[in-house]
Amino acid sequence: MKRSSLAVLLSAILLLCLFTGCAGTLRQQDRTVFAMDTVMSLRVYAPEKDGTLDALEALLIELDRELSATDPESKLSGLNSSGAASDRALADLVRRSADLSRRTGGALDLSLLPASRLWGFPSKLYQVPDPEALEALRSRIGMDKISVTEEEILLTDGAQLDLGAVAKGWAADRCREILEENGVSGILALGGNIQTVGKKPDGTDWKIGIQDPEDPSRNRLVLTLAGTHAVVTSGDYQRAFTENGVTYCHILDPQTLSPVQNSLRSVTVVADEGLLADGLSTALFVMGREAGVAFWRSSTDFEAVWIEADGAVTVTEGLSGAVHDGDVTVVKR
Ligand code: AMP
Ligand code: MG
Repeated sequence: MKRSSLAVLLSAILLLCLFTGCAGTLRQQDRTVFAMDTVMSLRVYAPEKDGTLDALEALLIELDRELSATDPESKLSGLNSSGAASDRALADLVRRSADLSRRTGGALDLSLLPASRLWGFPSKLYQVPDPEALEALRSRIGMDKISVTEEEILLTDGAQLDLGAVAKGWAADRCREILEENGVSGILALGGNIQTVGKKPDGTDWKIGIQDPEDPSRNRLVLTLAGTHAVVTSGDYQRAFTENGVTYCHILDPQTLSPVQNSLRSVTVVADEGLLADGLSTALFVMGREAGVAFWRSSTDFEAVWIEADGAVTVTEGLSGAVHDGDVTVVKR
């Protein structure tokens, strides 16, 4: 090959590399991890000997050990039994969740663990509790019983903390940081929490299925999104039991200390941050569709999809371009 042709060929390869991010050197790598009581599917697009998946797996297992409300050895269980903990990262998570609780008018409430236990959700030994026994827990429940500073968390009046509504979103944020530090793109499914990071090497958009609550093995709709997003779904089908014809789901209404009963089957929140999306998906489920849409109108940092028992699907206008299904109602600001 002549020198000039070689130079042209090398320049073309260089240009191709610049435009594609050297897609040829990236390999799709997948791993399944069981943590936080759920199956997690991790997919990254990284060079052959990249250690991103190992780092993600180690982080998820560490966070599982710290944040589990059912593992008696976890940092959270230590806090729940002693009433105090000194831990900067945990304090940061609790403080930011407490901000979200205030913002959602208390719909997100991290102090419901004693009520959740009485319904048998953490142990999966479900039962409809005696109303008096439930009411007797009131004095131990309420966000005012949780105080948090830069480093310290203090629980009063026998309060106990449950991070189930926010822990996976928090974990997704920490995973995103690892991918960003390593300059790696990918899509992580931490149970119902999906986190996309960066661009797919082939330039196509991320496709994220939103499960059909009637048959969670199928998608009700698919969101097409480019770039980095947290997509989190709270649904009554994720954990529930039926007694005497009534279905009770794992998300509790802080007003009644009982499973939420409204028209919703699921709420999906799309936001930049996992913690925000996770906290809000739970809170919006508690609020119901109408109050949730009003809450969205007064906010600027998330989009949402509501699926109701009659099959109706409502999406906020910021997602209208991402949803390819004519059978949805788009709400505007
Ligand atoms: P998610 O799946 O993110 O909506 O979180 C649901 C989990 O959060 C439940 O399994 C409980 O552990 C906990 N939880 C239930 N109801 C609430 C609530 N109203 N606020 C905060 N956490 C809750
Ligand atoms: Mg949540």
